[in-house]
Amino acid sequence: MKPAPFAYTRARTLKEAVTLLAKHKDDARLLAGGQSLIATLNMRLSAPELLIDINGIKGLDGIAKKGKFVEIGALARHAQVERSDIIAKHAPLIALAMPHIGHPAIRNRGTFGGSIAFADPAADLPACLLALGGEIDVAGPKGKRKVKADAFFKGLFETALRPQEMVTAVRIPAADKNTRVGFAELARRHGDYAIVGLAASARANGKGLADVRLAFFGVGATPVRAKKAEAALAGGDIDGAVAALDLEPHDDVQVTAKVKKYLAGVLLRRVAKQLVEPQS
Ligand SMILES: Cc1cc2nc3c(=O)[nH]c(=O)nc-3n(C[C@H](O)[C@H](O)[C@H](O)COP(=O)(O)OP(=O)(O)OC[C@H]3O[C@@H](n4cnc5c(N)ncnc54)[C@H](O)[C@@H]3O)c2cc1C
Repeated sequence: MKPAPFAYTRARTLKEAVTLLAKHKDDARLLAGGQSLIATLNMRLSAPELLIDINGIKGLDGIAKKGKFVEIGALARHAQVERSDIIAKHAPLIALAMPHIGHPAIRNRGTFGGSIAFADPAADLPACLLALGGEIDVAGPKGKRKVKADAFFKGLFETALRPQEMVTAVRIPAADKNTRVGFAELARRHGDYAIVGLAASARANGKGLADVRLAFFGVGATPVRAKKAEAALAGGDIDGAVAALDLEPHDDVQVTAKVKKYLAGVLLRRVAKQLVEPQS
């Protein structure tokens, strides 16, 4: 299929992009890597009148350690993040997740900000951001604001972004010697969206764990934290954490809800092992 006709413009600055968004509201869509948007246009799931290409906006693709945080610009490509020394050293959960996102061709074009804004419930990066307690920088015609990951993912492909706003960067706590992270997903083939996935972070606390955050994806309308399981895991009880898994997945085209819940338990055991073993 081909997309419905649309107009195209390139925004040269952030201000220009948000001014255009404010003017055209729901009739416009930002174009970043195009890896999700172009598919939805071609399938006519979306038919905006105007595409605003943001790829020419300078300064939105940086990856930097700023004090106790790592900041990733919205236009940083997945491939750039995957190869970044800063990410490898200071954001090990993101480094673990990156190779699972699609295939190299998709990672060459897809952007971090695009993935967060699109908020596919089976996507890897929204769950990582949630697991890390990250923050999203948002810009609109009235200025900038920050939204915590816990408050950003609102529903199926729905976020806290207002129609005239865009994501400019995300910020996550930089890992230190007490940081523990874990990541696992089950997909039919490597590179497919996950049937079920789990991104997790915690702090080493003596021989145990503290601040456990388990963010499952592919099991609901958004990435979801399993808070009862988090509490059990912090107490060192892996069997108890699996038994307490507070998830309510639905059947989808791949598997039933019952199978998803079972697979979530399998992933939890794998990730729990990663969390208790210090990362090298
Ligand atoms: C075959 C295939 C397999 C894939 N597999 C996976 C996978 O396994 N895991 C995974 O996580 N992802 C997967 N993806 C998605 C991939 O990660 C995309 O790159 C990502 O979802 C969207 O990023 P993008 O830059 O391409 O955004 P685009 O497609 O350009 O935009 C997506 C949406 O986000 C909006 N948007 C883009 N940037 C911004 C911004 N800065 N602020 C506000 N709104 C914005 C657009 O208007 C649009 O509505 C896959 C994609 C394909 C095509």
